[in-house]
Parts: sequence; C-alpha cells; structure tokens
Amino acid sequence: NALLLTGSAPTRARFSFEVFPARTGAAALALGHAAQHLSAAGPDFISVTYGANGSNRDASLDLVQYLRDHTDALPLAHLTTVGETRDAVRAAIHGIMDAGVHDFLALRGDPPRGLSEDDAVVAESLSSLELVRLITEARAERPPFTSVGRTAVAAYPNGHPLSRSRAEDIDWLIAKQEAGAHFAVTQLFFRAEEYLSFVADARAAGLTIPVVPGLMPASTSAQLRKVASLAGRPAPAELVREMDESGGFAPELGVEHVVGLARELLDGGAPSIHLYTFNRHEQVLSVLRELQLLTPDPVAV
Ligand code: FAD
Repeated sequence: NALLLTGSAPTRARFSFEVFPARTGAAALALGHAAQHLSAAGPDFISVTYGANGSNRDASLDLVQYLRDHTDALPLAHLTTVGETRDAVRAAIHGIMDAGVHDFLALRGDPPRGLSEDDAVVAESLSSLELVRLITEARAERPPFTSVGRTAVAAYPNGHPLSRSRAEDIDWLIAKQEAGAHFAVTQLFFRAEEYLSFVADARAAGLTIPVVPGLMPASTSAQLRKVASLAGRPAPAELVREMDESGGFAPELGVEHVVGLARELLDGGAPSIHLYTFNRHEQVLSVLRELQLLTPDPVAV
C-alpha cells in the first residue's frame, strides 16, 4: 500500500474493490485482466467473495492467491460459516493464512441454494461474531507475519432481513466491534441519507470502527431491480426510468449515480468507498476518475 510505504497522511479519499471467483475459463482470463487494472489504481484492498451465489469455495481461495502472487493489491478474503462445523471454519481460516493472506471479511453467509433461514443447517451456523473471534485466535496461534491483518464485518444501513429494527442491527454491529472487528463494509444502498443516518445512529450508540460504504455502479435496469432486495429499498425510480429509456443498458448512468452518491458520502464523513466491480474495471475506474481519486492515473496494463 503506497500510503503505508510513504508514511504520508492521506490527502484524498481512499477506495477498495470487490471481485468474485469466475465460473468459466474465459471469465477467469477476463478477470485476470481486470484485476491488473484494479490493482494498478492503488486500492486499499481487493476483497474476494466466498461461496456467494453458488460459487465454489476453492475458486475463492485460488483468486485470493492469484491477487496476492500476481498483483500489488492487498487481498481481503471473505469467509462464511454457514453449514460448516467449527473445525472446518478453523481449517478454512488457516488455509487462507497459509496462502499468506491475513485480512478477512467475516460473515455468517447466505443460506445455500434451496435452504432458508429457518433450516437447521443455517440457523445453527456459527455467527459472524464467532467467526471474528476464531480469526483473532488463529492470528494469535501463528508465528508473527509481516502483514498485520485486519478483520472486517458486514453492516446493513437499511437493515438485515433477520433484524426487526435499526436498533437491533446497530446492537449487532457493536457486538461485532466488541468481538474484535476493525472496520465494517456496508451492503449496497442507493441514497446517501440511508448510510449517513445509520452511521450517525450507530455512533450515538457507541460504534467507533470505520464504516465503509459499499457502492455498485449498475450497467442495466435489470441489474438495478435485481439488487434492490439486497439494498432493502428499490433503486431510485428516475435512475431505473433513464436506464429503461436507454434500452436497458447504460453503464454511464450507473457511473454518474455512484459518483454523485460517493460525493455526498465523502462530504458527510465516509472514510473511503468500497466498489462492487462485477469483475470489470472500466466502470469503477470511471467513478474514481470522476471523483479525482486516481493519482497518478494508472498506466494501461
Ligand atoms: P450476522 O452478522 O451473523 O447476522 C446478520 C444480521 O442478523 C445481523 O445484522 C442482525 O440484524 C441479525 N442477527 C443475527 N443474529 C442476531 C442476534 N443474535 N441478535 C440480533 N440480531 C441478530 N455472503 C456470502 O455468502 N459470501 C460473501 O462473500 C458475502 N459477502 C458479503 C459482503 C458484504 C459487504 C455484505 C454486506 C454481505 C455479504 N454477504 C456474503 C451476505 C451475508 O453473508 C448475508 O447478508 C448473511 O445473511 C448475513 O451475514 P452476516 O455476516 O452479516 O451475519
């Protein structure tokens, strides 16, 4: 990380990216190319999803290792507990650490395909709190390593489906902080107010760790509608209408929306921004360029 190397205080907002394991050989080649561009932009980290959307967990570890061995970016490994025994989770943590990666996003995980929150295998899974503690324990058990390693957790500005109130979401996030989380990354959302009011309420209740907003520049109106269930609120009607009017595919509109959102968030005190890339670099780099966060502009890779 250039900032750590120079030791200089950050003069501009920071950013990070999320990628997911590719499902085909061609997609993996394209992702390797995108990862080089993403890394050249100098992110704080590139996070890699785990087991989400039916993706294969070994592929997740492979991608984490690829980023570590073939890019300058710091990989941050998502890890989930759902459907796993405590021993299997411990083994997964050590497997990632054996690969030289010590930074994690600790998650309970989505229910596997075909299962719901009520199925015993999901309901009885270790919580993200227990995972944060297992990661901290694993770090302590291992010889000292060069990378310090940080543990991130998920936050839900518009509420997690399991929680009945904002107060419950905030209490749970504070419990993650007490379990040892160093920072939180949010589920995506579409309006700055949703993040800003959540963070203000969480601060008032005692949250001190940074909360990094997760932002997604959508390319299509179908994508916007699809992610609305994650965001917990529908996408702004005007954005959906403009995308529909452009024939349903308008990446530049997604970029414009996220640039406006990021400006409001950073002005409102967000510590940095985390960009969901969909394994492509063009749109997220356009966002950063518009925000003047790319310096020097990364050279073509
Ligand atoms: P937890 O923090 O354990 O719980 C989620 C929520 O449930 C809490 O916020 C709280 O509202 C409620 N809750 C749970 N237990 C209690 C309790 N005892 N008391 C009160 N409330 C409680 N999923 C994947 O499978 N793979 C991924 O790579 C992945 N990456 C993600 C990245 C980000 C940034 C985010 C925001 C989510 C990601 N997810 C991923 C989705 C996540 O796994 C799901 O949202 C899952 O349903 C909850 O995981 P969690 O770690 O937030 O769970």
